[in-house]
Formats: sequence, C-alpha cells, structure tokens
Amino acid sequence: MCLEYEMLKWQNERYPNMQLKEYQDKARVYAIYPEEHRITYPALGLVGEAGEVANKVKKIMRGDVKPEEMEQKKLEVASELGDVLWYCAALAQDLGISLSVIATQNLDKLEGRKQRNVIHGEGDTR
Ligand SMILES: [Mg+2]
Repeated sequence: MCLEYEMLKWQNERYPNMQLKEYQDKARVYAIYPEEHRITYPALGLVGEAGEVANKVKKIMRGDVKPEEMEQKKLEVASELGDVLWYCAALAQDLGISLSVIATQNLDKLEGRKQRNVIHGEGDTR
C-alpha cells in the first residue's frame, strides 16, 4: 500500500468529513507555473501572501482603519488569507501530500503539545 493511501486512510479515521481535498483539487487548475519551479514557486508565493496579510493587519494596528471601515478591512484580510490557502494547496500538491492530511497532522501535533502542556513553548519537535 502506498504512503498516500495510508495517510488518507488515517486522516479519514481521524476527521472523516475534512473537505480540503475538494478545495485542493479545484485550486490545482490555477497552478500555472514552470515545472522546474515546482515547490519553490508556491513556497515563495506563500511567504509573499503571508506578508500581504501581515501588512494589512499592521495597518489596522497602526490606526489607519476607521471603525466604519473595519468590516471591509476584515474582508480584505480574509481575501489575502485565501491567497495563502491557495499557495498552501499548491505547495502541498507539489509535495504530493493532501491538504487534509496536513491539516490532520497539524491538529494531532497541537493536541499532543496541549496534552504535554508545551503548546506555548518553542521548537518544531516539542
Ligand atoms: Mg494577495
């Protein structure tokens, strides 16, 4: 049995209704970049879009957004989060791993940290 099958089987046992696969499948249509830049291109795009999220939030913190503009600004941040999600999906696709498996692994990692009371610590392997 292949690793991807085993991972998806495990993910379906943990969270059977995870819908990220449908998003990843649909988002793949728009992954138009040179084959030789697979992995690198979406990794760089992910960082760029995360920067766009941070910049919009920074401007809110700086006081550039009037209270009556806040709902619109939240929508703009959400749109940038969508761009981040797209690059996550593209990078996961290039790595040959489904977003739903990544999401499940992340929840398991966070739960493990919570159980060990190290959720506020540092380091990838805590
Ligand atoms: Mg953007």
